[in-house]
Amino acid sequence: MKIGIISDIHANLEALEAVLNALDKENVDRLICLGDIVGYGPDPNVCIDKVMSATDVVIAGNHDHGAVGLTSLEHFNENARLALEWSIDKIEPHLLDALATLPIIHEENEFLAVHATPNEPTQWHYLFSESQIVNNLDAMTLPLCFVGHSHVPVAFVLDPDHDILVQEATDVRFQSGRKYLVNVGSVGQPRDGDPRAAYGIYEEDRFCLKRADYDVALVQKRMRIHHLPAHLIERLSIGQ
Ligand code: ZN
Repeated sequence: MKIGIISDIHANLEALEAVLNALDKENVDRLICLGDIVGYGPDPNVCIDKVMSATDVVIAGNHDHGAVGLTSLEHFNENARLALEWSIDKIEPHLLDALATLPIIHEENEFLAVHATPNEPTQWHYLFSESQIVNNLDAMTLPLCFVGHSHVPVAFVLDPDHDILVQEATDVRFQSGRKYLVNVGSVGQPRDGDPRAAYGIYEEDRFCLKRADYDVALVQKRMRIHHLPAHLIERLSIGQ
């Protein structure tokens, strides 16, 4: 079974299409989206439509919940809030309904999928401290969990001695006796210094993070037309 995993599309249609084309060529059996379809970018409606039709599983992110009133807009920084308020006006009612009913966590035979953290998944925590990382890995009922949210790909590994190893997510080989928390990065707003869209391929005992080029300037042009915040437009060029 070959599974594609995407996250944090953020209404960036060009990036989403580039990733879906790349996944087509990978011949994945299943596709899972870890949430944040909307927010920041200029094309929320078509991105929701495309993600819903292209994926087998979609879970909710904090921006999706912000768009439908399930998370207060007070929890977002100013630029994120401005972009979400713009999005709320734009998103068609039936697509808002679709966002409102997304599950928070998904479990398959051998792994979990959640937007932010497996512990308290609707609190939308970021993993800043080693103790947070250990607590999440300890509580996991399965050895593997895929997350998004920070837009920074990384793999946290809990080894048999209860030590945390931090690995790049580029090529992770899963070993028995270890637990893994793997961040798959962001399709539509990468923050790891690489502006290309990120997506993951999970197959048996291995996860690979891949990148797809897309027309960043075209998305920026569309964001300018809609007067979305300048910082959100500029950061796409540098992947930060
Ligand atoms: Zn996000």
